[in-house]
Amino acid sequence: MNNLLDKVVSLAKRRGFIFPGSEIYGGLANTYDYGPLGVELLRNIKNSWWTYFVHNREDIVGIDAGIISTARIWEASGHTASFSDALIDCKSCHLRIRADHLIEDFLNIPQTKIEDRLEMWKSKEDNDLNRIKKSLLDKKVEGLTVSELNEIVENLAIPCPKCKHNDWTDVRRFNLLFPINLGIIDGAQSQAYLRGETAQGIFINFRNVVDSTRVRLPFGIAQLGKSFRNEITLGNSIFRTIEFEQGEIEFFFDPEVSDWDKIFEEWKNQMWNFIIHILKIEESHLRWRVHTDEERSFYSKKTEDLEYNFPFGFKELWGVAYRTNYDLTQHMKYSGRDLSIVDPTTGKKIVPDVIEPAVGINRLMLMVLLEGYTEEQNRIVLKIPPQLAPYKAAVFPLLPNKEQLVEKARNIYLDLKKYFMVVWDDRGNIGKRYLYQDEIGTPFCITVDFKSLEDNTVTIRNRDNAKQDRIPISDIISYLRERVSS
Ligand code: ATP
Repeated sequence: MNNLLDKVVSLAKRRGFIFPGSEIYGGLANTYDYGPLGVELLRNIKNSWWTYFVHNREDIVGIDAGIISTARIWEASGHTASFSDALIDCKSCHLRIRADHLIEDFLNIPQTKIEDRLEMWKSKEDNDLNRIKKSLLDKKVEGLTVSELNEIVENLAIPCPKCKHNDWTDVRRFNLLFPINLGIIDGAQSQAYLRGETAQGIFINFRNVVDSTRVRLPFGIAQLGKSFRNEITLGNSIFRTIEFEQGEIEFFFDPEVSDWDKIFEEWKNQMWNFIIHILKIEESHLRWRVHTDEERSFYSKKTEDLEYNFPFGFKELWGVAYRTNYDLTQHMKYSGRDLSIVDPTTGKKIVPDVIEPAVGINRLMLMVLLEGYTEEQNRIVLKIPPQLAPYKAAVFPLLPNKEQLVEKARNIYLDLKKYFMVVWDDRGNIGKRYLYQDEIGTPFCITVDFKSLEDNTVTIRNRDNAKQDRIPISDIISYLRERVSS
């Protein structure tokens, strides 16, 4: 059991951020619903991402393509053939788990003496065995073949994490795409898919965007929306779900004019800056990981992951990949349409290369919650950036049964509501209201007390240090604007 994760999951449920999916029917694995506060936090993260990468730039435009798309797209992109996870089942307790996760989790158990076990393992050709050994010593097994995964599970005698038996089926591949049948079309064409990533919606609209806007290379197309993957996982809340929000950018350029190394590094900086400056994550909780040759797609020249130190280990938040012009070329082949473009610098017709930063917004949200969760002597505080907080301020009358206090507070609340997401609270005593607002991350609490009736001032309490300022009512808007606006 993970302490911090459990605490955050419990707070998220208790306070209306994240609920288990289909809960009143006993739940549905790997699905979650977002409550009144979760929907605000998620939306604020999405809006920050969109503002940072689309509105604040002049070289990126956005689109919103359909979630349901023809099977042809996914054949062209290679997803129907190879977008799969290698799964393994415990014959004893019927746990189904990703084989790479089973092995990686086993390798991360502190008392696992992997070097000793490798010493005894001499069954393979030297080259193959060295490859496997290297993966195991690096504790990363993505990219190994099904037979190599089988061999590892067998040779390391990995026990089932649930029932501790060692009785596994063979590792098998399961495709992650969700097929759907459309009632309105007959025959094979009725087969469609829920999109497995937002990226393909960008590639198939490349021509439309180029023809309908004034974009010129190098430029990007961004998309933010739901993707679907039929994956399984053990716990970890919204880290990995079958339905999730992805934010992807395809940044197109002519490799003869622009240096891909440089663009790649610029994207890494942009991603890093967003996490550090907008989401306010501590730098030491982040790291870059370069994909090995084995795990990188064959068409990618370089892929790196920005990882966050989750309570269950450093895990991918955001990937950046140089995908060459593989996707556009594939769609040209499968659709028969010309997706080339004239580079204004050289005058040459080219199919541009692309660098793709791809992030999961729900993972960002889990990170923000984990990072913000703070236990102090007498309170739990969600110290999330004010710009992301569901409510920017709460307004209270000191006593709920004193008409003059209520009236004055109500007027302030209704006035602030025109400019900020604010909340009214007159339940319980003031101390309890502070504790509640601290737990949901409200950066400021404004209280109308008896002094307010005399001199038109209020107290404004800061969530992070619990200190109070006394300010004129007429200054509240500018006070908040300075501190909570993005
Ligand atoms: P992973 O290795 O964790 O499965 P991935 O490499 O398959 O991720 P990409 O296809 O690169 O992921 O997708 C981009 C981003 O989308 C990831 O960095 C991650 O933040 C997010 N993401 C991917 N799959 C899921 C999921 N099932 N649930 C939530 N977020 C996801």
